[in-house]
Amino acid sequence: MPIYEYACSACSEAFETIVSGRGEKDVRCPRCESKDVVRKFSVFASRGTTKGGASCSSCSATSCSSCG
Ligand SMILES: [Zn+2]
Repeated sequence: MPIYEYACSACSEAFETIVSGRGEKDVRCPRCESKDVVRKFSVFASRGTTKGGASCSSCSATSCSSCG
């Protein structure tokens, strides 16, 4: 089951929850119980892009001549 990250619009609490099927509609902020939460695209997107530096996006190595 996927784990989604949410951010509460009311109190800025960030939290994660496991969502199964269509259960997403009942997601509430655990802190203030607001339903005004925004789902963030998580986990995958936040990894793997910071190593090696932005100047070397054309290769996957960390020590090629163009990496500086
Ligand atoms: Zn909240």
